Amino acid sequence: MRCTVAEWAVDEGGSDGVLEGAPPAFDVACPVCGDGPILAATFAQTARGGILPDPVHQWLTVSGWTVVPELRCPDQT
Ligand SMILES: [Zn+2]
Repeated sequence: MRCTVAEWAVDEGGSDGVLEGAPPAFDVACPVCGDGPILAATFAQTARGGILPDPVHQWLTVSGWTVVPELRCPDQT
């Protein structure tokens, strides 16, 4: 299941190999299938610090993800 592009997330296509000078990005990935949105800008910086930003947490939950105790995309729930 592909995630909808949101203001703070871009589609995962071609995410490998971050371009030099590219804005910060953080890959939220399901540990089972590897799918998930990529966070950008301040959300990425927060997530890199080990904290999933509240709006991201809420978006994942609304989108059918399991967040606790660990990430699972809607395909695995
Ligand atoms: Zn999955």
